[in-house]
Amino acid sequence: AGAFLSVRDLHVSFSTEDGVVRAVDGLSFDLERGRTLGIVGESGSGKSVTNLTVLGLHNPMFTTVEGEILLEGQELTTAREAELEKLRGNKVAMIFQDPLTALSPYYTVGRQIAEPYMKHRGASRKAAWERTVEMLGKVGIPNPRERAKDYPHQFSGGMRQRAMIAMALVCDPDLLIADEPTTALDVTVQAQILDLLKDLQREFGTGIIFITHDLGVIADMADDIMVMYAGGAVERGTTEQVLRSPSHPYTWGLLNSMPRLDSDLGTPLAPIPGTPPSLLSPPSGCRFHPRCAFRERVAGDRCVTERPRTAPDRASACHLTAEQKRTVFLEEIRPRL
Ligand code: SF4
Ligand code: MG
Repeated sequence: AGAFLSVRDLHVSFSTEDGVVRAVDGLSFDLERGRTLGIVGESGSGKSVTNLTVLGLHNPMFTTVEGEILLEGQELTTAREAELEKLRGNKVAMIFQDPLTALSPYYTVGRQIAEPYMKHRGASRKAAWERTVEMLGKVGIPNPRERAKDYPHQFSGGMRQRAMIAMALVCDPDLLIADEPTTALDVTVQAQILDLLKDLQREFGTGIIFITHDLGVIADMADDIMVMYAGGAVERGTTEQVLRSPSHPYTWGLLNSMPRLDSDLGTPLAPIPGTPPSLLSPPSGCRFHPRCAFRERVAGDRCVTERPRTAPDRASACHLTAEQKRTVFLEEIRPRL
């Protein structure tokens, strides 16, 4: 038994000239096929590192990975490069904010979509080209048979994003990791791309990990949400739970700093005071404690001395009691949102 993707007590650290950076520090989560897990957090929270590690894209020379990453029972943390090579672009694919990190300027768009299909599926050139044209059509590129012969620079930004999605999905991956895939696009194109991903997920049953700092996008895309801070998960639950009854002070801060749809233009946002900590020397106890307005409500100095953890199910890693979390949210946070 077990989820399609299961990450257990993952630790990822890098050696740098200044010391060891603990980029991911004890992270566990599951993803089921056909579902979307939204990972949200500020930059430096470890959300991208987690996913590069899932793909085996970390540099083994400078990176230490501990814990388990099980994809359909296959352990990825100890997989050989050749095995990972077989997974990437095949069972597992990734789309990025900037399609030019995935698309080479030197080859036609069509060739770059056809090649992984030939490589992983052993398809003939002709069959791969037909598949490419089909995929470009599915992602909404008009006149795909002709446009497949274009180079990436002949495509608009939104079209390149679509082409990258076609490339990621050409082998019908079971897992798609989307790292801020629409951040650089204007709102209309962004909405189109998100709809496209949802349609493709329905069609192919892909499990998606969607990484973003945008709670609006998460609300639209994710079935489940994991909020990350300083290398760990601080809150986890269904999208409904996390957005409607969040129970971690950091999540409250994120929600409070979100622009409100119904507010007058110019209503100032309330950013969380302070900045995320350096992962070279993270704060003791709860890593959020230097920025947290609620630590006085926890008895003693537990917030400073004891690291709170999430349980595997719905949880927030915070020493406040369940009752405190509920009442503080209802009485002090929600009225401000
Ligand atoms: Fe704030 Fe303490 Fe909860 Fe951390 S454990 S979020 S410092 S109240
Ligand atoms: Mg990132």
